[in-house]
Amino acid sequence: MKKRILTGDRPTGKLHIGHLIGSLENRVKLQQEYDTYIMIANVQALTDNFDNPGKVKNSIQELLCDYYAVGIDFDISHIFIQSEIPAIHEIFIYLANFATVQQISHNPTIKTELKQKGYEASTPLGFFIYPIHQAADITCVKADLVPVGKDQAPMVESCRELVRKFNNTYSMNVLHEPEALYGVEKNIPGIDGNEKMGKSLNNAIYLSDSAEELRRKVFSVTTDPNRIHPTDPGKVEGNVVFTYHDIFNSNKDEVADLKLRYTTGKVGDVEVKEKLYKAMEQTLAPIREKRYEAEKKKAELLEKVIETSREVRKIARQTADEMKEAMQIKF
Ligand code: ATP
Ligand code: MG
Repeated sequence: MKKRILTGDRPTGKLHIGHLIGSLENRVKLQQEYDTYIMIANVQALTDNFDNPGKVKNSIQELLCDYYAVGIDFDISHIFIQSEIPAIHEIFIYLANFATVQQISHNPTIKTELKQKGYEASTPLGFFIYPIHQAADITCVKADLVPVGKDQAPMVESCRELVRKFNNTYSMNVLHEPEALYGVEKNIPGIDGNEKMGKSLNNAIYLSDSAEELRRKVFSVTTDPNRIHPTDPGKVEGNVVFTYHDIFNSNKDEVADLKLRYTTGKVGDVEVKEKLYKAMEQTLAPIREKRYEAEKKKAELLEKVIETSREVRKIARQTADEMKEAMQIKF
């Protein structure tokens, strides 16, 4: 039997290069080898967008176009919509017995996100409990592997803990302990220098950006703030332009040469950025082309995903029933 993957995205906008490197590339690479489940987390997206349901709804088809564009195969990967799987919410409440308010409060990702969203003084409960809800997403299909970005590390860790506690308490091996798989060791930073590029942070290069938009964004990327003139020696470490070069520029000699000249004050930002734009365009142009194709069959892709959701509903129901059995509440 193939091992299972569960991963997904929040329909809060279009996908960006952080998603590509953090998670999408691994999904495409592993979709044949693993039984792959990709969840569109629309219920989770509502936790901080409950007053904007239209955005969440409309973003679903954008996600589907992005998936198609990067090479996720809708006939091989099982793509489904979270709100179509009621058993997830049931599993959530069973797992919630094993989490504490204090644990969630100390979750580093939650801490950062509460700050980012200005929720520290008044935290919507629906948002606060999302780590447990996400554990229900992962466990409902008994996933073995979770390809995610580094910001999700505490979520997968807390999921593993919940699974162990549940299984130990009822002395049954009902749930599966998943492993995380990170595309990169650090989140892809935003063009504004923020340590994470995010859909909701207004600092992203989207897979759907035109060549002109890409160029404009590349030229607006924050570089070494202390370097005023091209003759000033600059810093490469933590410089977003070079982080992107390391990821997207396959000409390693060119990158090494640019870094050397940058640190010795022998190259201007324009040359560094022009070369970065060219390297990124090589990766992003074919994705953009395939996305045009996807745009034309949006409705068909959505149909397929709704159909797949019905199959996943049965798997999740089975998991919830096994949990009920273990907890002696199944009649
Ligand atoms: P939002 O701002 O709405 O939370 P997001 O950009 O964080 O959006 P998500 O849908 O929350 O995107 O995340 C989907 C997946 O992409 C997750 O696995 C997440 O870890 C990964 N991911 C998101 N941003 C980055 C990034 N900058 N670098 C690497 N991986 C990322
Ligand atoms: Mg996020």
